[in-house]
Formats: sequence, structure tokens, C-alpha cells
Amino acid sequence: MRGVREGEVVSFVYGRPASVGSDEIEKKPFFHFHPGTRALSLGTLGCNVLCSGCQNWQISHAGASGGEAERLAFLSPSRALDMARRFRLSGVVWTYNEPAVWLEYVYDVAQVFRRAGLYTALVTSGFMTVDALDFVGPLLDAVKVDLKAASPEGWAWLTKIKDPQPVLDLAVRAREVHGCHVEVVSNLVPGLNADDTSVGIVASWVRDFLGVNTPWHVTRFIPDFELSYLAQTPLAVLERAAALGRKEGLRFVYVGNVPGHVSRHTTCPACGRTVIHRDDRGATEVRVKAGCCVFCGEDLGVVGI
Ligand code: SF4
Repeated sequence: MRGVREGEVVSFVYGRPASVGSDEIEKKPFFHFHPGTRALSLGTLGCNVLCSGCQNWQISHAGASGGEAERLAFLSPSRALDMARRFRLSGVVWTYNEPAVWLEYVYDVAQVFRRAGLYTALVTSGFMTVDALDFVGPLLDAVKVDLKAASPEGWAWLTKIKDPQPVLDLAVRAREVHGCHVEVVSNLVPGLNADDTSVGIVASWVRDFLGVNTPWHVTRFIPDFELSYLAQTPLAVLERAAALGRKEGLRFVYVGNVPGHVSRHTTCPACGRTVIHRDDRGATEVRVKAGCCVFCGEDLGVVGI
């Protein structure tokens, strides 16, 4: 994504989105962050991780040193804001590929959205340095990070990352230092990270380091790219993992990539009422006020409403 041109290190992808969309925030997935809103979604070419099962591999595994990015239309930060306003969007999310590869653009876009009073959210592999996070962290409202495995071996097999500690550190630092709302996804691949021990390790880590109100999405693996030969995750495996997460003390565990699944709704853990009702696209009914259940006042850790 970077190279040397006329003696200077440059970004090839600054302002060159490969994907631009208007998505429900729940699609990212963010379930406790501005529910029921839509955001401008931006992604470019490249990634700093090489996941074998990446569903966006056509852009995330593409290089940009051969002029590929220059063929993409330029979108200035102010035009991105104009676009969001025109379509009545509530914020911006960097998604589809890893935002760290065009961090200068993330910074510049985040600044104009912040000034306009719109939200900013990062969907990230989490594999970036502390300096990189601290560069954009003060301008971010939310971070979604994947905890892809319970062991370094599992991470290495799925992502080629040998040491996942930077990812774990990023999730904690985004929340504690930058005050970001954090949600976690674990895509469960049978035979790799979906057994009870692995699930228990990840769930207890989320509980201990991010807190019991952190939404944890256990999502169905859909075969793709280098892992096309594997089967998708059986529903029973996902439901067992969700139950284990709740047993570990997590209050908001969602089964993802399963259309129509009942766990897509948010239930207040104190009074048992449904407080956020979702269809397969986004929130359709929200019974939350100042982050709390409107029925009993329980803190649900919901941001933006
Ligand atoms: S971090 Fe995300 S975008 Fe990058 S290769 Fe992995 S799944 Fe794909």
C-alpha cells in the first residue's frame, strides 16, 4: 500500500476507496452502538493480515504498488462527508479491509466527521502498533475487533500472525485510553477454534479485560478463499458457544451470520424484556434510554441513544 516515489515514502491508497457503501451499523456488527442508524462504509485495497478465510480477499489481498489504486476514484474527506449528509447517514465506518493500511486517510476523514457531529468507527484486525492506534484513537468513537483464536497456533493458522498480543492490547487500549465503545467478534471454525476450551478462553478474556457488558458476537464461518474446502459452522456449535459465553458471565452474546436467529435481539439481563429488536438488517425497535433499559433502568452499555 506504500512505496517510494521520487525519493519519498507515499501511500498509494490515500483517498482511494475500493468499496463505498451505506450500511446499517448492525451489519459491521455493532449491536450496542447507535442502534438503528446507517453509516458510510469505506474500504480500500490491502490488509496487514493474511487470513486464509477472508471474505473480502478480492480487495484485502490485493496490492497497490502497480497503479491499481490510481484507477479508483478519489474521494476527499470533505466529499465523504457530503456523501454522508446527502444520504442522511449518522457516521462513518472503515470496514471491508484493514483500516490501518490507510491510516492517514482515516485520520483526515475522522476529523471532518467529528467536526460535523457524526460518529466514527473502526472495524479492524487489531493488528497495529500502539503509535498507530494513538494517532487515530482520539478521533474514534467505536472499535470492532476480531478475536480469531484462543492460542497463538490458532492465530498463526488462520491469519499468519504468530503473536496475537498486539490485537489484545489494542482492544483494551481503545477502550481504556481512548474511551471507545468496543465490540468483539469470534468467527468459529469447527476443528480449529470452536471447541469448548477455546471458546471458554476467549469468552473469559473478554469478560476479564473488556468487561461483562461487552457485546460478543460468535459468528458462523462461511467457507471462502483458501478455506473453501471446509464446511460452514453448524448452528448447534454456535449456540453452544453462545451458551458458554453467557456461562462465563458475558451478558450480551449474539449468534451471527445466521439469518433470523433469535439471539439477534437484545434482552435486558435484569428484567428479561426485549430492549432492542432487530431484523436481519438492523434494529427496528429500540427501548433504551441513556444506555439503559427503559423498563428497569439496567445499564446495558449501549452508546448513542
Ligand atoms: S483482517 Fe479482515 S480484511 Fe484482513 S485478511 Fe483478515 S479477514 Fe480479511
